Amino acid sequence: MARIELSHVTKRWGGFYAVDDLSLVIEDNAFVTLLGPSGCGKTTTLRMIAGLETPTTGRITIDGVPVFDSEAGINVPANKRRVGFLFQNYALWPNMTVRKNIAFGLGNLREAGLSVSEEGEIRRDPLAKGQARKLTKEEIERVVQRVSEIVKIQPFLDRYPGELSGGQQQRVAIARTLAPGPRVLFMDEPLSNLDAKLRLEMRSELQRLHHSTGSTFVYVTHDQMEAMTLATRICLISNGVLQQYDEPLTIYGKPENTFVADFVGNPAINFINGHGHQGEDGSFTLSVLDHYEAVFVSSRKISAQEWYQEQESREAAVQKPDRPVAKENEDTLFQYPVRTVTGREESRDCLSPDDWVIGVRPEFLSICEDGPLEGEVFSAMPTGMETTVRIRVGNYLLTGVSFGKVTYQIGQKIRMEITGDGICLFSRRNGCLVTTGTLHMRHPDENDAG
Ligand code: ATP
Repeated sequence: MARIELSHVTKRWGGFYAVDDLSLVIEDNAFVTLLGPSGCGKTTTLRMIAGLETPTTGRITIDGVPVFDSEAGINVPANKRRVGFLFQNYALWPNMTVRKNIAFGLGNLREAGLSVSEEGEIRRDPLAKGQARKLTKEEIERVVQRVSEIVKIQPFLDRYPGELSGGQQQRVAIARTLAPGPRVLFMDEPLSNLDAKLRLEMRSELQRLHHSTGSTFVYVTHDQMEAMTLATRICLISNGVLQQYDEPLTIYGKPENTFVADFVGNPAINFINGHGHQGEDGSFTLSVLDHYEAVFVSSRKISAQEWYQEQESREAAVQKPDRPVAKENEDTLFQYPVRTVTGREESRDCLSPDDWVIGVRPEFLSICEDGPLEGEVFSAMPTGMETTVRIRVGNYLLTGVSFGKVTYQIGQKIRMEITGDGICLFSRRNGCLVTTGTLHMRHPDENDAG
């Protein structure tokens, strides 16, 4: 049982802000993944919550009790926070059996009110006073049996780590971390040493482990697939700054900005620049991909003008963090990729409120016989279950996913339409999501006829 709250937590080294004014609530029994590109501050965040790194400023509480508070001068050491760690290098003792590896930390526990249930679960009486006690051999064995059952390594208890596969060793490391009954389990890329197949298997086991232990899990990864499949909530960070904190499907379907949209999803989202404005009926008529016309209809009623006004007043209202030292690693607007055949990037100067970016997930680009979009196959990558198709439309490259056993030839002429109501409309000026909706493309000939 643990609810973690971070308020305005900053960690900087000189003028380098590794974590910048982070506020976050990790609910009890959540499985939160800290996700972002290399060097964005994921590990530093995890280490600060765990007590392995001291924040520069801010406050962290676990179950309402402050474990760090820069103003009150509180900094509870890691070994007093009752948390467990699991890292990439799980370093088991090679000269000890699996049983001894798991039991190792249990022998060092010394607390008043400590006991072990018949089922092998560690119990702590928070009100217990008096002399601290250690666990007996029988109690330790009961705990070892319980945790080894959870991670399915009972048959290997008398083996040495060198006699186990990588996945089995990792399970021993998990059992060892679970044994003392941590209220929070911190994991830093714990599966990255495993091969792809084993990683998939271990992911599923970690999910079941989370379900069966009821602990709070905080998990660092740069692998968006891992973050998506494991988490109850993803905390996506860039340059030390929180970008979005939401459930995985919200992050995928309603990314708050172009950075989030681009980081999550494989194959990546298509960005299409559009220029135009909102009509009286609320729809947006935009010119896109050189000579196509697109009509975007929002799923909810929205006024672009009001949206911009809200953005401006929000920006003015957001209190800029009080910085004693200027941020060297300055925040810049994310340069979303518009993929073209020549790799050419479009100029982003002189943007007006009539400049938009449309985000189309590959599964919304449907190849069909009578679609309004014309293109030719640039490349096709079948995996068996689906084929990722890169399609050239004029000078632009769009990515689509086609399910089923269809084969595509390079250069093949195809037609497409954009389907679904999950198309994202971003402002090009600040990269923020305006709304989601549908996109109807019109072929240039259709425009001429009309
Ligand atoms: P990765 O996925 O590569 O592990 P990360 O998101 O976990 O990256 P962190 O380890 O949290 O990144 O580091 C965040 C930034 O802080 C990095 O740019 C790193 O170089 C910097 N940093 C970390 N530790 C120190 C230190 N002791 N002194 C100075 N800078 C540091």
